[in-house]
Amino acid sequence: ALFGVNRSTVAAALNLLSASGLLEGNRGGGTVVRSGPLEPSTSAVKAPIWMNAADEGIHYPNLPVIQTINRMEAASGVIRLGTGELSPELLPHGSYNQLLAELSRCRRRLSYPEPQGCPQLREAIARHAAADGIRASAASVLVVSGSLQALHLISVGLLPRGAAILTEKPSYLYSIHAFQSAGMKLIGLPMDKEGLQTEKLADAAAAYSASLLYTNPTFHNPTGRTMSMERRMQLLEQARASGLSIIEDGAYNELWIDHEPPPALKSLDSEGRVLYTGTLSKSFSPGLRIGWVIGPEPVIGRLADIKMQMDYGSSMLSQETAALWLSSGRHEAHLVHIRSRLRERRDHLLELLHRFFLDIAEWDKPSGGFYIWIKLTVTVPLRALFEAALAEGILLNPGDLYDRNDRQHLRLSYAYASAAEMNGAVPALSAIVRRLAKTERQES
Ligand code: PMP
Repeated sequence: ALFGVNRSTVAAALNLLSASGLLEGNRGGGTVVRSGPLEPSTSAVKAPIWMNAADEGIHYPNLPVIQTINRMEAASGVIRLGTGELSPELLPHGSYNQLLAELSRCRRRLSYPEPQGCPQLREAIARHAAADGIRASAASVLVVSGSLQALHLISVGLLPRGAAILTEKPSYLYSIHAFQSAGMKLIGLPMDKEGLQTEKLADAAAAYSASLLYTNPTFHNPTGRTMSMERRMQLLEQARASGLSIIEDGAYNELWIDHEPPPALKSLDSEGRVLYTGTLSKSFSPGLRIGWVIGPEPVIGRLADIKMQMDYGSSMLSQETAALWLSSGRHEAHLVHIRSRLRERRDHLLELLHRFFLDIAEWDKPSGGFYIWIKLTVTVPLRALFEAALAEGILLNPGDLYDRNDRQHLRLSYAYASAAEMNGAVPALSAIVRRLAKTERQES
């Protein structure tokens, strides 16, 4: 064929022709398109436009592996060894009941929210941020439905289509989707143990005419790495010199395990260069869908205006619950609790990796967050590994979800699976990797 025609385009064309009554079956001669004027047929039924929409619209379909993960995370009996959320037993269920009872007593409003979000919540978020050295007022905070929404709002509202965005390679998978769906060009920059390699940042910005950096410097998803203080200073210096703006994703900042991480980039920024995103998903409740953006007031106002057009504000039930929780003073005590539980889980997973993966993989010890990024030192096709693990009831996040060229990493998480589940899953996974590596060696 001279032209590459997408199969679904052909199917869509046939459906349209058929719905317009222009297809004729010709016994023994296949299907032909009837000649004649394209008059609307009174008898033919036209297919609804969305029946062929799989390849349409601004959002790329998720990769099949992501779709499987999303489906299987809801299934029972699966060991979630890659999941980016806390185990339900680490969430403060008793507090949810109290907060909801409190809400019902004080008859809080369930009217439409204000554009920037409920004022009590924005004040509580500003105080919470101040504890991390970030100077913010309620006016510089926008409440969003999970911090992922912030990335979508920024993409569609503040950036020119086709803009080049620098980011860590690998990077959080839905941030990649958010930027790419909005038509942005993503440029992945290398990382090492100290996080993003910042020394060539200005060069990369110039080479790709990039005006924005999206970074997740603390307990990075998926590598678990944290950018050193020296790199943070270098990053800001280079950003100033090359006119780069920065989105700092602070999703895991408060989940340190060994020692507090270096200060947020936002806390070192006095020029409004950094837009900071935060969330309650990783500590309090992923299902509440409460996140925030902190930035210069006019920018926050612009994002709020777009958010009103998109969803008329985040759920007031969620906002009021979050406001009560953050103002109650219980968040800090809860963090102390989950930090120590995460430390136990991390150490347990590291010990199991040491016993079962020492000769077939390498990894670093993360000092916070949820993830261990393991690099397999034997050759195993990641797709086959994902499927073989799933067949044994183990759900994994392969590295190519975070960097499409990756062939050797797995993102493991110690946040969700219990110690008993890890005890079963890690040796089983080790056996699968060895089996697949052997097959691979025999075939090559
Ligand atoms: N940023 C990062 C780095 C994440 O890992 C996640 C969740 N996996 C998010 C943002 C989105 O979180 P949410 O929308 O639940 O706030």
